[in-house]
Amino acid sequence: MMSTPQPSSPRRARTAIVAGGGVAGPVAAMALRKAGIEAVVYEPYAPGTGSRGGAITLASNGQNALATVGADKAVRDAGWVTPRMIIQSGTGKVLASMDDLPGLPPRVTLPRGALVDALQRTAADQGIEFRFGKRFADAVDTGHSVIAQFDDHTTAEADVLIGCDGIRSTVRSRIDPAAPVPRYTGLIGLGGYVDGTGVPDTGGAWHFVFGRRAFFGYVVHGDHASWFANMPVKRLDRDALRATGFDEWMRRMREAFADDAGPALQILDHVTPEGFTTPSPLEDVPHVPVWSKGRIALIGDAAHATSPSSGQGASLAAESAVELARCLRDLPVEEAFAAYTRRRRGRVERIIAAAARTNQSKAAGPIAARIRDAVMPFVMERFATPEKSAWQYEYRIDWDAAA
Ligand SMILES: Cc1cc2nc3c(=O)[nH]c(=O)nc-3n(C[C@H](O)[C@H](O)[C@H](O)COP(=O)(O)OP(=O)(O)OC[C@H]3O[C@@H](n4cnc5c(N)ncnc54)[C@H](O)[C@@H]3O)c2cc1C
Repeated sequence: MMSTPQPSSPRRARTAIVAGGGVAGPVAAMALRKAGIEAVVYEPYAPGTGSRGGAITLASNGQNALATVGADKAVRDAGWVTPRMIIQSGTGKVLASMDDLPGLPPRVTLPRGALVDALQRTAADQGIEFRFGKRFADAVDTGHSVIAQFDDHTTAEADVLIGCDGIRSTVRSRIDPAAPVPRYTGLIGLGGYVDGTGVPDTGGAWHFVFGRRAFFGYVVHGDHASWFANMPVKRLDRDALRATGFDEWMRRMREAFADDAGPALQILDHVTPEGFTTPSPLEDVPHVPVWSKGRIALIGDAAHATSPSSGQGASLAAESAVELARCLRDLPVEEAFAAYTRRRRGRVERIIAAAARTNQSKAAGPIAARIRDAVMPFVMERFATPEKSAWQYEYRIDWDAAA
């Protein structure tokens, strides 16, 4: 358990331990380095051996943050541009079609593993040191430094520790033993990649289908389809989830999408176990009361995990990494953490709440689904416009401004 810190010295941080090398970690390390703070990243999994995950999209705001640390090009090169979202009902009716706002970097889609690889590679190229095989276990805040302990019984010391260890953050539980745990959204996420389905190239458009019984998303790039399904499952039984095999999931998905328009069944017909990502419950953490304590702070999913329905988790992680580094550049540690929290909390919690509302539409029962289908066209027309969502996508941190 973390010891009680002594009164901290007001000097600025010069060194940092970054616990977690997923999305937030490498971006934080690059941003800290740009701020004159030397950071080392500690990550349990060797490069390319961690969770590979399904397709992820990096929104304009996330790319703005990556551009600040010179990582936007590497990420763009690892994926493909998907600047349009087409939202449909299970009947095939187009409820909304949204293009990225002009003048902003277009949305990029890539496998989550490719995103992490690109960020780790770019950070390493910038001189960031990664120590793999290191799982953060605990920390002691001495008041002048923080000493991290890893599960291989090694330690590391620095001026600050940044917890980038994801939605099940250990760092979060060390700074606040009463911290909330992830909340199940009522949806199971499934997905993967498949070639040669015969479904035509969607021209950079992601299609999102609010089907009669479940939600289906797909994008086809040349011959290659990325897809995901969100299946409503009221009560989460993790053992049952683990025990359910590929064939059974395929059967359930075929049944769920049997009456919907669109190519869900055609795509599923070609899916193989190799191109199928591990099914997982969709979760979020709507409010983490304590984002920092003494010399330790949280960023990314550790602080503000949104469910995938926002398409913003990785982008918010990148933004928070840049903002935290800017604050540490200009302010003594505890003031920096307070300024970072002030600047970020409202924005991220608003996005988490919006995604939670989308989840309710995805998990609608048969009666609610009918109401949803009747009401959605009006809601979409009024609210699902590029202008209405500009606050999410236009966001840019002014790195040169004083924090
Ligand atoms: C199905 C799904 C789809 C998604 N789609 C999108 C999308 O389209 N767009 C989007 O922006 N976001 C999406 N997200 C969310 C996005 O993946 C996360 O918000 C983002 O990865 C958060 O980055 P992070 O670095 O905080 O956490 P993570 O990416 O989870 O990285 C955490 C890292 O910490 C490491 N770690 C864990 N424990 C420890 C420890 N004790 N010590 C040290 N290291 C540790 C892990 O190995 C991992 O490398 C999706 C998420 C899911 C589940």
